[in-house]
This record gives sequence, C-alpha cells and structure tokens, in this order.
Amino acid sequence: MNNIIVRENNNSIEIEVTILDSTNISNIFPNINQILEKYFLKNKKIKDKDINKCLGKYKRFDKKSNEIINKDYCKICYQDFNIKEYKRNLKCNHFFHKKCIDKWIKIKNTCPICRDKCI
Ligand SMILES: [Zn+2]
Ligand SMILES: [Zn+2]
Repeated sequence: MNNIIVRENNNSIEIEVTILDSTNISNIFPNINQILEKYFLKNKKIKDKDINKCLGKYKRFDKKSNEIINKDYCKICYQDFNIKEYKRNLKCNHFFHKKCIDKWIKIKNTCPICRDKCI
C-alpha cells in the first residue's frame, strides 16, 4: 500500500509519500491535489468571525420569544433556553444556545440534529 502523510508546520507543508508498490506510481501524483484539498477542508480552523459572517446576527431570548413561551431546550446541552441568553439559528433552521453551537461548529461543523453543514 502506498501512503501519503501531510504535515503542517508553522509556515510550510511537508508531504511524505511512501511508495511500496511502484506499479501504480503514476496514480499517486494526480491524487496529491485531492488529498491536500481534503486535508485542508478537514483542518480548516473556523473562527468566530467566520461563524458570524456566515450565519448572521444572533439574538437574545426575551420573554416573548417562542422558545421561552414553549419552554424549549437546547439539544446540545439539554438546558432550557432562558431570557437574555443568546440564540443562534443555523441555515437548516435548527437553533441552539449561541455558546453551545459556536463551540460545536468549531469541532464538527454539522448540525447536531440534521447533520447539515453549518458554515
Ligand atoms: Zn445549549
Ligand atoms: Zn439542522
């Protein structure tokens, strides 16, 4: 099996290619682009400003919020929504505490309920 390892240092990228089977060596190099793309997508660090830019403004719950009236709760932390807490809506229309979903997006970037991509 041929193997490709990508290492990221402060300002450089190192790609280690182990070739044990030289019969399909020509297949390895066209794949490097794809592998790097996947690597960077997976390792892309999401910042607060990316989340705000992509998902727009977040709101506080007030006593007239439907979620407060319906005694809804956050599906990440299982705590009720309370007045003055911040709420964040995803594009799929699922919503959570801002603090819970922001932390989640940085790790997983998929909606905890429907698994749609968050940003
Ligand atoms: Zn929560
Ligand atoms: Zn969702």
